[in-house]
Amino acid sequence: MKHIFNFSAGPAVLPQPVLARAQAEMLDWHGCGMSVMEMSHRGKEFMSILAKAEADFRSLLHIPNDYKVLFLQGGAIAQNAMIPLNLLAGKSADYAITGGWSKRSVDDASAYGKINVVASSENDQYRAVPDFSSWKLNKDAAYLHLCTNETMSGVEFVDMPNTSGVPIVADMSSHILSRPIDVSQYGVIYGGAQKNIGPAGLCLVIVREDLLDRASALTPAVFNWKTQADNQSMINTPPTYSIYIAGLVFEWLQAQGGVEAIEKVNITKANLLYEYIDSTDFYINHVAIKNRSRMNIPFFLRDESLNDAFLRGAEAAGLLQLKGHRAVGGMRASIYNAMPMAGVKALVLYMQEFARTH
Ligand code: PMP
Repeated sequence: MKHIFNFSAGPAVLPQPVLARAQAEMLDWHGCGMSVMEMSHRGKEFMSILAKAEADFRSLLHIPNDYKVLFLQGGAIAQNAMIPLNLLAGKSADYAITGGWSKRSVDDASAYGKINVVASSENDQYRAVPDFSSWKLNKDAAYLHLCTNETMSGVEFVDMPNTSGVPIVADMSSHILSRPIDVSQYGVIYGGAQKNIGPAGLCLVIVREDLLDRASALTPAVFNWKTQADNQSMINTPPTYSIYIAGLVFEWLQAQGGVEAIEKVNITKANLLYEYIDSTDFYINHVAIKNRSRMNIPFFLRDESLNDAFLRGAEAAGLLQLKGHRAVGGMRASIYNAMPMAGVKALVLYMQEFARTH
């Protein structure tokens, strides 16, 4: 098998032992004679897979008992519409724009009610999270929406603003499970699976129970959080195979020592790459040091005419999917939980060699 390191922003690298186990269990799951893909979602086999996945996810993030975990479809972008439908209840909502994904959330939510943009770093090319003292928060907002890790520009929140009780709704798609979080600081946490959780097609929503009574009558049943919470996320057929793989990823993460242990590895990996970028004039990263993402590291070659040569050489060296997001340009290395240290070392070696020869 060709040995590569995959730096895709998502769908992204999965832990190799997870793929191997899925392969081993593909035709016959635990001796039942069926593939997970062939099981009824209401049968005892799949129900046990779902229950274990939820229990492991809860334990990895220490999710308090007064929060529900929903396994939904439609990705994070579907939630952009479902958040206002489930939460606005005739009020307005506050949104912070810190990158392309939170801007997209504002655009999507605006169809459903009054959205106030309380902070924006757009004019600063999304280089930092604006200082909280400048945020124009509204005390009577239904919620405050944030994207705590901006996948395109590589900007990560390190703390949360004080909202005086207004629930925070956080899009954690691209850094969930990469660092410990205090779930009780949030009203809702959501994330598309295809980065640190598993395959595309699944979106996890963690929602505090007292927020489940506010949905507009227009909310589709499959996206009504209360309806789904009351029905174990099975008002429709859930994405069973994606849930199964997510469950294997959770078990793998537990075997690594959980989120607390993987955070240490993630810090080391990110430091290695940032320290190299900062040590040379050949490459540059524009993000304010305190907000540099540990998961998505965009960088530019000073001489952008070398971009194609850089990518061609990287691919030849087995370093795949390093091209930056089309809205940002340059390069981007996504180094999620499943990216081994060896992958980051190989990338830095390649970057050094490319700089030396160009
Ligand atoms: N939010 C963030 C932070 C993302 O990174 C992405 C996808 N890259 C999305 C939302 C959209 O996710 P999806 O395409 O699964 O709806």
